[in-house]
Amino acid sequence: MVELRTSGQEAIDLENKHGAHNYHPLPVVLAKGEGVYVWDVEGKRYYDFLSAYSAVNQGHCHPKIIKALKDQADKLTLTSRAFYNDVLGNYEKYITQYFGFDKVLPMNTGAEAVETALKICRKWGYERKGVPENKGIIIVFDQNFHGRTTTIISFSSDAVAKKNFGPFTHGFTKVTYNDLQALEEALQQENVVGVLVEPIQGEAGVNVPNKDFIPEVASLCKKYNALFMADEIQTGIARTGSMLAICGDCNCTTTCERKESYTRPDVLILGKALSGGVYPVSAVLADDTVMEVITPGTHGSTFGGNPIAGAVAIEALKVVSDEELMVNARKLGQLFRERMNKFIETTELITLVRGKGLLNAIVINDHPDSSTAWDICVSLKENGLLAKPTHGNIIRFAPPLVMTEEQLHECCDIIERTIADFEKRS
Ligand SMILES: *Cc1c(COP(=O)(O)O)cnc(C)c1O
Repeated sequence: MVELRTSGQEAIDLENKHGAHNYHPLPVVLAKGEGVYVWDVEGKRYYDFLSAYSAVNQGHCHPKIIKALKDQADKLTLTSRAFYNDVLGNYEKYITQYFGFDKVLPMNTGAEAVETALKICRKWGYERKGVPENKGIIIVFDQNFHGRTTTIISFSSDAVAKKNFGPFTHGFTKVTYNDLQALEEALQQENVVGVLVEPIQGEAGVNVPNKDFIPEVASLCKKYNALFMADEIQTGIARTGSMLAICGDCNCTTTCERKESYTRPDVLILGKALSGGVYPVSAVLADDTVMEVITPGTHGSTFGGNPIAGAVAIEALKVVSDEELMVNARKLGQLFRERMNKFIETTELITLVRGKGLLNAIVINDHPDSSTAWDICVSLKENGLLAKPTHGNIIRFAPPLVMTEEQLHECCDIIERTIADFEKRS
């Protein structure tokens, strides 16, 4: 029998010895999670300020989502799409009504959903827009993050993510994020079929564009007859204070209340919190005029649309609207940035706090190649709060959206105390 219980150091040694080294984790070994908290193998409790890259928006092990998982696991787990199952149709109806689209294509991981969107976009370009086959161009943005497959890294700006993984996929034009003039120039090329954009660039360090950027991307796409594809895998599902980040400053409280007027993408890509971090569930949503290019045999996934995924995702979305998590994200996000902005004035170590809702980041006053942000994260861990640097000198703060105001203040206390102590030491 394989022994699964290990001490902290043993667990780290095991991963180092037997696992590929494709991540560089903080030295903490987690064994339990509940709501905004996680516990390590020694029983020490931490606030989770990463939320598994915003997959656990609903909080760790949300009882309603776990119940949906267990109930469905006892009945039926996987049929493949060779047959119908009695959950998928209900899920498809639920999610399409929830986000206001005709159809959904269910996948598992975020990268798969992005790949799916790119394939749909190209096929639409050839079959509906009349672009000559193999000539389609999709516009993407500098510093993007859309996943790790060969096609997706083909248009990454991250040298480490690309090095020695070529040859790459053609047909992408990269323009500067938040630069509408550059976008319009790129759209004037021949054979453009679509634009793929993150409403806020999470991995790049929570880059929030100007307010008019996303609405203008939408209208430029309309003007040049290109599909507007929004990757809301990290920003969606209430994280930034509205159901979707493309909703801008919409004060929605449950599902989208202004379906007609919000900046609606032609293709919406979701993942991560779509399952509350319980199961890999991703989705591509579009209307019939776009989704109809997909016909039997053109695309698929053995696990995509499985009954567990459907049952879990329905419940995960229900929790978001029932608990009005976007309202809480909006309120706590404001509080967080207010406190950090005040705190910045007392320290040389942070230059900037930015973000929207509960997707925020602080920029550390040091070179991106320095270990300062990492060292601060290690100190935060020692003080009971888990966060991870992104792009060297930036620390992202993204707690579960079920946090209370009191808990958030306690977390701000931890962050301020840790950074003040750190500054004294160095
Ligand atoms: C995480 C993420 C992805 C990739 O999702 P995986 O499930 O890791 O494949 C794609 N786009 C964005 C914006 C993400 O944050």
